[in-house]
This record gives sequence, structure tokens and C-alpha cells, in this order.
Amino acid sequence: MANKDYYQVLGVKKEASQDEIKKAFRKLALKYHPDANPDKKEEAEKKFKEIGEAYAVLSDPEKRARYDQYGTADTADFGAGFDFRDIFGEGMGDFGSFSDIFESMFSGSTRRTYRRDRARKGDDLRYNLEITLEEAAFGAEKRIEVPVWEDCSACKGTGAESGTGKRTCPDCKGTGQIRITQNTFLGQTISIQTCPRCKGEGQIIENPCKVCQGTGKAKRRKSINVKVLAGVDSGHRLRLAGLGEPGENGGPAGDLFIVIYVKRHPIFKRSGADLYYDHKISLPTAILGGETTVPTLEGKAKMKIPAGTQSETVFRLRGKGTYILGSKNRGDEHVKVTVEIPKRLNTQAKKLVYELAQEMGEDLEKIGEKNFFEKVKNSFTKK
Ligand SMILES: [Zn+2]
Ligand SMILES: [Zn+2]
Repeated sequence: MANKDYYQVLGVKKEASQDEIKKAFRKLALKYHPDANPDKKEEAEKKFKEIGEAYAVLSDPEKRARYDQYGTADTADFGAGFDFRDIFGEGMGDFGSFSDIFESMFSGSTRRTYRRDRARKGDDLRYNLEITLEEAAFGAEKRIEVPVWEDCSACKGTGAESGTGKRTCPDCKGTGQIRITQNTFLGQTISIQTCPRCKGEGQIIENPCKVCQGTGKAKRRKSINVKVLAGVDSGHRLRLAGLGEPGENGGPAGDLFIVIYVKRHPIFKRSGADLYYDHKISLPTAILGGETTVPTLEGKAKMKIPAGTQSETVFRLRGKGTYILGSKNRGDEHVKVTVEIPKRLNTQAKKLVYELAQEMGEDLEKIGEKNFFEKVKNSFTKK
């Protein structure tokens, strides 16, 4: 490919400016990007590689001059001088697979792993905050401890032991990049990578600070107040911007996410802003009606039971649930009543039940223990 006319490939004149070259490349790259040509993928890819190669040479003044003079360029350097992101910007969106193509573009002859140390946002942190149902229902102020980073006090954030400085990285000789030559079945490949020792900075700290291991950062714990809003539920997140891990290369800090976890309540089950509670009432109360006392989030409350209440009947206490998040309204408390059947009765009570049964027209031969009925029968029939 060395003898190809790169100017012709990009469709520019020999005296074209860098700007014109860049524009022409951008236009062609977008046109021939394989993702944009699904029906002619192979052809487009070939063309795409070609224009990439041409651009790699012509966009670099030094390589361009050499090419102009000798009609050839050092193929090992293809791609070394540019980054697609410089041309298309970070938000490439539709061209997400550019890097893959970029990889395949130079594999075989030259392969370059391009990684610039860009400013990077710090990682987000997560804090699980456990609260009670009452706190979730009405809101609360919680004090929590979170880690914060600040400049190491021993080295004042430089990462170097006091009195020492930085020196040129011996691994990359200050360039921040290292070349790795490998012989593979495809031939020799050369990759240029960010120097791992100095992380691309070109300089290393001579004597790293012993307190912070050269990072320049110190972690400490800080108490902060967190306002839990009334109506929150398990899984709700609260974002505290900038309280996450510190950024790299001047990037902003990450965020702290406080994730709510509402503890199981010993009495109530919750669904949204509604509460559910199972309540037992006595047999006489169910039959005759009356009043019973039920728990609510705000203490005990009286509840009316109508005469003839069946087991499993659900009563609703309006507005006794939790607050609805972001609203002044509250959910309800649903009370499901179960009629409790007494397991043991004394003789007198049993007699009364037989009497009731007789009154209700039950066949006394078919209920209860035979002997008991025989014993108490007379007391019924005497009347
Ligand atoms: Zn330090
Ligand atoms: Zn280095």
C-alpha cells in the first residue's frame, strides 16, 4: 500500500492544508464506516482502512513530508499520530464500534493501542442505609459516616516524600509511551502503549510518600446528615453529588448514592403507602359486634366491629398508612380480622354453646361429644 497516492485516496490536492485533509477524512470515514454500509460491509471496510492509512500519514506533518519526498511512509507508525476521538469528538454515538475497526485496521502490520490519560470521573460510591418503617413513613434525619478524600497531610498532596521531587521515568524515558514489538504468525506487530510505570506522565516520584503510598490522597471518615423523605421505600436512592471517589487527571469526583433499605416490621406489612395487619377478634365480638383496639404507626387506635363480622373481613383505616413520597397524603392501614374460635371452654360455657345451637335449630345429635350432651340434656329439656 506504500505506493498508493494518499492524496487521491482522500480526494485532496497535494498542497491541501491540514484542515482540508481532516475535513476530507472525516467526510470519507463517515461515508465508508462499515456500520453505515451493512450491505457492502467488506468493500466499505477496505476503503475505510485505506482512508485511515492515508490520513495517518498526511495528518502528521513529519510523515507527510517524508511521504512527499520518498513516496513512502514508515508503516510501523500508521495510526500513531491520531485518535479517531480527536476528529469525531467523544460522543461518537452511532460509531461506537470505531475502536474495533481501528483495531482491525492495523492488525497484521501494525497495531496500536491508543490510550490517552484523559480526565476521568471518579467512581460512584454506594452506602446502604437501613431505616425503620416508622422512619420511612414519616421521614427522618439520619447521621451517617462516609469516606472522604483529601490531600495527604504528610506530603501536601504531592505524593512525594518531603524534600524529594520527580524524575524522568526510566522505562519510557519521559515520553509516557512504550513500544512493544511482537512476532506473531501475522508478522511483526508493534503496539504503542501507555507506560505502565508512570501511567503516561513521563515522570515518576523518586521517593513515594510513606503515608499515602505516593497517591497524594488520604481517606478519612466524615459524618454527614441525610434527610430521609417521608414515604421512601427499599431501593430508593439518594444522590449526593461529588461525594464519591476522587477523579483522575483533574476529573470530577464521583457521586455517593445512599440506598434505602427499610427493615422488616414486626407487625405491619407494607405495599406502597398502604399497610397490612392481621388482627384477631373474639367470637362474641364477631357475633355481637363491638369495639377492638388495633396498632397503628402512631400508637393504638379503636376500631368498630359490626355485628355478624365474618372471618377474613378487611377493614380500612383511612390515612393510617405511610406518607406518599412527595405528597401530603397518606396511604391506608388494612386490617384483616380473623375470628378466634376458643380451643377450650369450661362446662358452663359449653352448655351455653349447646343452648345456642339448639336455639339456632342445629341437630344436637350431630354435634359435640355424645357423653357431654347426655349429661347436660336434662338441663335443656327441663325448661
Ligand atoms: Zn502523602
Ligand atoms: Zn514511563
